Amino acid sequence: MKYLKLTELYEQLDSTTKRLEKTKILSDFLKEIKIEEKDILYLLLGRIYPEYDERVLGISSQLAVKAISKATGVNSAEIVKEWKSLGDIGQVAEKISKKKRQATLDKKELSVKKVIENLRAIPELVGKGTVDKKLALITELLTSASPLESKYLIRTLIGDLRIGTQESTIRDAIASAFFEKEKEKDAKETSDSIQEALDKSNDIAEVFEIATKQDLKLLRKIPLEIGKPVKLMLAQKALDIPDGFRALGTPCAIEYKYDGFRMLIHKKGDKVFLYTRRLENVTSQFPEIIDYVKKYTKGESLMIDAEAVGFNKKTKEYRPFQEISQRIKRKYDIEKIQEELPVELNVFDVIYYNGKSLIDEPFKKRSELVRSIIEEKPYKIVCAKQIITDSEKKAEEFYKKALADNQEGIMMKNLDAPYQSGRRVGHMLKMKPNQRELDLVITGAEYGTGKRSGWMSSFIVSCQDGDEFLEIGKVGTGIKEKSEEGLSFEELTKKLTPLIKKEKGRTVEIKPKLVVSITYQEIQKSPTYNSGFALRFPRVTVLRPDRDTADIATLQEIQEDYDIQQKKKVY
Ligand code: AMP
Repeated sequence: MKYLKLTELYEQLDSTTKRLEKTKILSDFLKEIKIEEKDILYLLLGRIYPEYDERVLGISSQLAVKAISKATGVNSAEIVKEWKSLGDIGQVAEKISKKKRQATLDKKELSVKKVIENLRAIPELVGKGTVDKKLALITELLTSASPLESKYLIRTLIGDLRIGTQESTIRDAIASAFFEKEKEKDAKETSDSIQEALDKSNDIAEVFEIATKQDLKLLRKIPLEIGKPVKLMLAQKALDIPDGFRALGTPCAIEYKYDGFRMLIHKKGDKVFLYTRRLENVTSQFPEIIDYVKKYTKGESLMIDAEAVGFNKKTKEYRPFQEISQRIKRKYDIEKIQEELPVELNVFDVIYYNGKSLIDEPFKKRSELVRSIIEEKPYKIVCAKQIITDSEKKAEEFYKKALADNQEGIMMKNLDAPYQSGRRVGHMLKMKPNQRELDLVITGAEYGTGKRSGWMSSFIVSCQDGDEFLEIGKVGTGIKEKSEEGLSFEELTKKLTPLIKKEKGRTVEIKPKLVVSITYQEIQKSPTYNSGFALRFPRVTVLRPDRDTADIATLQEIQEDYDIQQKKKVY
C-alpha cells in the first residue's frame, strides 16, 4: 500500500470526532488491507510493533526539528518558531514541505513497507553515531514525502498521531468489517471476544489476521505464548469488608495487598522473562528474580502473576514502593542496586502451566496450583499470604495484620472467577485505609519563577474518559527542591521536557505519558477543569513508572468516589 493512502485515512479520521463515523471509515479501510500488509495496524495506533514489544521510536521533538531541517534545508530556529506558533510539529513539517516541494520534483513514491522498514531500524541503533544514523533514516523518508506524508511521519516519530483513534475504535471497526453478519444481539459478544483476543495477545495485527477468517471461535482460542505477556487483571475498590463480601460472594479469598509493583513472569525451560503491569520487559533489571524462578518454581513452562516487594536487607522490614521504584528503570549497576534494594516475589496467580492456559479456570484452582508449584523461600519467592473465609471478624483481623506488616491493605478475590484482563471485571477488590489517592497523568505544566525558574513547578493532572484525558487539578505540593530529598522539580522537568507538545509563555502542554499518584483531601465539583471536578489539597506522593495511561483513574471512578464522599461514607 502507498503510504499516501494511509495518511489520507489519518486525515479522514482526524476530520470527525464522531466515533461511529471513525469506525465506519476504519472498517472500510480494514477490508482493503492484505494479510501481508497487516503491520499497517500498528501504524494506525502510531506504533511500529505490537503492544507487548518494547521497541518504540522514542524520537524527541528536538530531534524531529533537526530531521525536518536536514531534509528541507530550513534552519532549526525557523522551524522552532513555526512550531511555537502552530503548536504541532507535524503541521510544521507539512507547511515547510509544501514550500519546498515546488523546488524538488523528482520524488520517489513512499510505500508503507519502506516507512515501516526505516522506522523499525531506529530502535535497533545503539552506540556511537546513533543520532546521525537516526537522522539519516528519517531524512531519507522525509525527502521523498509529500506534505501530508511529512506531517504524519513526524507525528508518528514523536508518538503523537492526533487522529483520536484508540485500540477500542479499531476493535469496533474489526467487528464491523469482519463480523457484520453477527446479529445485533451478539454485537456485545463479538466486541468482547475481540477485546479478549487483544488482551491475550496484545497484538492488533495478529487479531486482525485471525478476524479476517470471520470465525469468532478462532479469536476466542487465540493461544497464549511464552514471551507475549497478557494484559493483567486489575482491581476495583471495596469500601469495607462487608461491601467486599457482598460484591464477591462468600467465602472469598483474602490476601495481603503488597505495596510493591506488579510483575508478570514467564518461564520456559531455562528461559525466564519478566514484565511490568504495562507489559514492559524488565528481564535484565532483576537477575535475582530470574534465579529464584529457575530454582524454586516447578514446571517446564509457566506464567505467574506476582507483586515484587522491597525489604530492608538488615532488618528484613518491608519497604514502600517509593524505595524500590527506581529498580524498574535502572539499566546500569544492576548488581549494586540489587544489593541495596532487594525484592521478594509474592506470587498470587498462575495463568499458564506446562503448555496449558488456565485463564478460564476458577481462581480457587489457580491459587491452589500456585501453592503447589512454588517452593517458598522467604525474602526470595513466596506465595501471597491468604485466607479463605466468610467471617467478617477473621477478615478484619487479617486486614490489621497486613497493615501491621507494612503492607497497603488487602485484596478480596472471587474464588470462582476466571482470570480476566481489565479493571471493570470486579473479580478482585482492593481495600486500604487511605483510599483518597488517585493515579493520574500529567498533561500540562507551568515553569516556575524566582528560585524555581528553569524548572516546571506546577503540574496539570488528568484522568481518562474513554479516549480523552480530562483535567482535574493543578499540583505542585509534594515535590522537592533538592533531588536528595525525593522526587524533585528538576527530575520532573527532565522527564517532561521531551513530552512537550505546545508552549505558550510559561505554560506547556504535555503528552500524557507520566503517571503520578496523588493524594487529596476532597473531591470537589468545579467548572475550572474540563472533568468538572477538582482536587482539594492535592499532593504528589510518587512517580509510577510501572503504570501507563490505561491504568489511571477514570472519570466514572472519580464520580463514584465523589458520590461516596458526599454520602459521608468514610473509608
Ligand atoms: P491498585 O494499584 O491500587 O489498583 O491495586 C491493585 C494492585 O495491587 C495490583 O495491580 C498489584 O500490583 C497489587 N497487589 C498487591 N498484592 C496483591 C495481591 N495479593 N493480589 C493482586 N494484586 C496485588
